[in-house]
Amino acid sequence: MLLLGKNAIVSGGSRGIGASVVRYFVQQGAQVFFTYNTSEVAARQLVEELGAEKVKAVHCDGKNPEAVNATITDAVAWLGGLDILVNNAGITKDGLLLKMSVEDWDVVMETNLKSSFLFSKGVLRYMMRTGGSIIHISSVIGIHGNAGQSNYAASKAGIIGLSKSIAHEMGSKQIRSNVIAPGFIATDMTAGISENVISQHLNNVPLKRVGRPEEVADLAVFLASDMSAYISGQVIGVCGGLNR
Ligand code: NDP
Repeated sequence: MLLLGKNAIVSGGSRGIGASVVRYFVQQGAQVFFTYNTSEVAARQLVEELGAEKVKAVHCDGKNPEAVNATITDAVAWLGGLDILVNNAGITKDGLLLKMSVEDWDVVMETNLKSSFLFSKGVLRYMMRTGGSIIHISSVIGIHGNAGQSNYAASKAGIIGLSKSIAHEMGSKQIRSNVIAPGFIATDMTAGISENVISQHLNNVPLKRVGRPEEVADLAVFLASDMSAYISGQVIGVCGGLNR
């Protein structure tokens, strides 16, 4: 029960890594308010599975400032306080830079980076009173870059800069900010990637396998808990040892 009595917001908790984070947080004693955008059925099923007294799901398009602010207000009212934010919602719109449309650039930057800015900014006034932990789900792609993912890489690199700046600005208020940088994790986001591409990728992964969403959630639990009370401004990989 590492998170007993703690209150958390998780963006994009309906599927994949976000759903695992919601599940693990509740199992560790937290109360969780999470958002979904298109997966209402999956969100409702997760609430049923975990119990409506411990977890609540709301629709919130993370690109929309008004929706994010309303979500944070509702979350704090329902939770009765706020200790943890996980900026998890994210998308890809891959393509070579030469052919990338402005629309594909904008939607990835807004979903991944702008939503992290909006949620982070919005929770500060609550966390300033009590301290808190902000966890951003970036990616190894934000560290190393990747052909065909310039928009995604830029958004995920931006998240690292955002998180490190929050750590500097808010440390005196005991607000910690850290980044998880997953490698290849088996979720809907990666489901369409061919076996050939996966096996090429695994050549560079010392642990020689893809990761599971639960393995990202394990680190999120640690970073949300008081076990990481002196850890802030860090970028931690969950990537099987990938270093390029
Ligand atoms: P999934 O595609 O499985 O899930 C994405 C989640 O983000 C869904 O819950 C989705 O909600 C939500 N989401 C997407 N757009 C919005 C939006 N506009 N507003 C609110 N929520 C939104 O992806 P993963 O679980 O794989 O990825 C989760 C995070 O981890 C992302 O930030 C991703 O970039 C990152 N990551 C993933 C890796 C991987 O290999 N899978 C590797 C590195 C990083 P809904 O379904 O309701 O629309």
